[in-house]
Amino acid sequence: MIPAAYAVLNLDAVQHNLAKVRSCAPGAKVMALVKANGYGHGMLRMAEALQNADAFAVARVDEGIRLRKAGFKNRIAVLEGFTCAEELDELLHYQLDAVVHSFTQLEIFEARTEQQAIVIWLKLDTGMNRLGFKAKDFNDIYQRLNRCPIIKQPISLMTHLANADDKNDDKTLKQISLFNETVDGFSGERSIANSAGILGWKQSLTDWVRPGVMLYGISPFPDSTGEQLGLKPIMELHSQLIAVKQIEKGDAVGYGGSWTCEKPTMLGVVAIGYGDGYPRYAKTGTPVLVNGKRVPLVGRVSMDMIAVDLEFQPDAKPGDPVILWGDGLPVEEIARCADTIPYTLVCGVTQRVQLVEKLSDVKR
Ligand SMILES: *Cc1c(COP(=O)(O)O)cnc(C)c1O
Repeated sequence: MIPAAYAVLNLDAVQHNLAKVRSCAPGAKVMALVKANGYGHGMLRMAEALQNADAFAVARVDEGIRLRKAGFKNRIAVLEGFTCAEELDELLHYQLDAVVHSFTQLEIFEARTEQQAIVIWLKLDTGMNRLGFKAKDFNDIYQRLNRCPIIKQPISLMTHLANADDKNDDKTLKQISLFNETVDGFSGERSIANSAGILGWKQSLTDWVRPGVMLYGISPFPDSTGEQLGLKPIMELHSQLIAVKQIEKGDAVGYGGSWTCEKPTMLGVVAIGYGDGYPRYAKTGTPVLVNGKRVPLVGRVSMDMIAVDLEFQPDAKPGDPVILWGDGLPVEEIARCADTIPYTLVCGVTQRVQLVEKLSDVKR
């Protein structure tokens, strides 16, 4: 017996996706994003599969510490940096690189006397308006950081693109020009591109690229799938039918009775729900693979179950395999049906779902 819901991770695809990054950004060093539990795929497992990236990046200090405690010796950048002196101590202790984006961080550095103890990325805010210093402050900040003994020289320089997933939005080129003009003449390596930059904006390619979602085989763009971009998806979310029943015309299915059948219908109940990370807002009609064939989801997604219309799968029976996304059913398509982006789907897979590398590893 296998558990109702599990996800199979095709780790062989990781090297393929990394090779795609390298072919799009020839000569660039790759900082592989493994934040948010490796986009829901398992951070340590993904870091293991991405050993030959040039560095890892995580969002938070505790994520970096977890990688170090698991024995990873690779360079690791912490994208949110630190918020207090104690957190800086942790970065130093675990030899993690810090992104520096705030005056608070600058002042903490200025109070320290250690010598050449930390590698930093100075972050410029070129239009995301989230983290980073404004271009007008850059010169001054750079000089102040330059005078801090604790910081290893040269300081690396980065920014983050806000709209790169929209290939028609010229904001991206404006951000890139502002960055290039601001850092012109300063030494230090540069980094701009996320996945959408790597795949869509050659102008954003420079010393380092920072791919996230594309390493997981997923498209950063709203109008394509990873497969269409030459990527191989890693995660496949599985479940099974746990009930099959005939319902009558006029029967309402699920909470709120948001879907009522218009004729006698063979209904399937699948053991997956928002308690597993399946999106609560997936609409009636969202495709689900039952025995490898598409059937529509009907009614509301509940915590542990969804219902599907088995009109075109009349022989389906309890125990039959179900795929919620994976081969033949791109996660990008499910995201569109749920008015979200595929990032949220893979990141949102919950603890209840066993992540395995092959079906035979699934444990009861
Ligand atoms: C998450 C993140 C990335 C990667 O973004 P993708 O869209 O997943 O490629 C790159 N840079 C920064 C600063 C990030 O926070």
